[in-house]
Amino acid sequence: MLIDLHAHTAPRSNCSRTTLEELVETARTHGLDALCITEHDVRWPDDELADASRLLDFPLIPGVELTTDVGHVLAFGPLQKPLWMGYSLAELVEECEQSDTALVLPHPLRRFAGERAIKGGRRPPTAAEIVVLPQWEMVHAIEAASTQTTTLEHTLTAAALTVAPRPAVAASDAHGPGLAGAFATEVDGVVHTAEDLAREIRAGHVRPTRFSA
Ligand SMILES: [Zn+2]
Ligand SMILES: [Zn+2]
Repeated sequence: MLIDLHAHTAPRSNCSRTTLEELVETARTHGLDALCITEHDVRWPDDELADASRLLDFPLIPGVELTTDVGHVLAFGPLQKPLWMGYSLAELVEECEQSDTALVLPHPLRRFAGERAIKGGRRPPTAAEIVVLPQWEMVHAIEAASTQTTTLEHTLTAAALTVAPRPAVAASDAHGPGLAGAFATEVDGVVHTAEDLAREIRAGHVRPTRFSA
C-alpha cells in the first residue's frame, strides 16, 4: 500500500494552509491508498475522522505530531497521557514499550542541518555524528524525506541510513495545497487502522518512495 504518513490541516494545525478535503483530493490524484492526519499536539476525535473518511470516501488514518525535547515525533496508536501535558522522547519510548504505538522521527536533521541551522552558520553533521544521536535509535522509523526538508537534509539522512540502517519512511508533511503524496511510504501489509500501520512500522515493513515533485 502507498500511504502518506504525515499531513496537517487547517485550522487544527495553525501552520497549515490547506483543508482535509484538499489533501484527500490531492492524495487521490497521486494514487495514494491512504492518508495519515498528524496535527501538532492534537488528535482528531476518532469518530470525526472516521466520519470524514466515509464522507470523502477515502481511507484516513489518525496520528499525531508531538513536540518533545528532541523536536517533533510522529506517533501512531494509543497514548496514555493527555497531550497537553507533553512528552519527552524517553517517556514516549518507555510508554510505547508497553503498547503497540509506533514512533517516527520526522525531519530528523532540522535542528542540525535545516535551512535555519545552515543560515545560522551551523556546520552540517557527518553521518557518524548523526547516527549517535539518541533519537536515531529510539524511534521505530526515520522520515527520510518530505516537502518540509531540504536536499541537504535528504542527502545527509540517506548517508546516515547507510552507516546505521533503520526502517525509513517518506511523507509529504503537507502544510499547503497540492502536496499530499508528494512523498509517500510503501507499506507491505494491509493497513486500515493506526494499529495496523503501527504494526507495519514496528516490524520495519516500510520503505520511502517519492513519485511527485
Ligand atoms: Zn514537524
Ligand atoms: Zn509536520
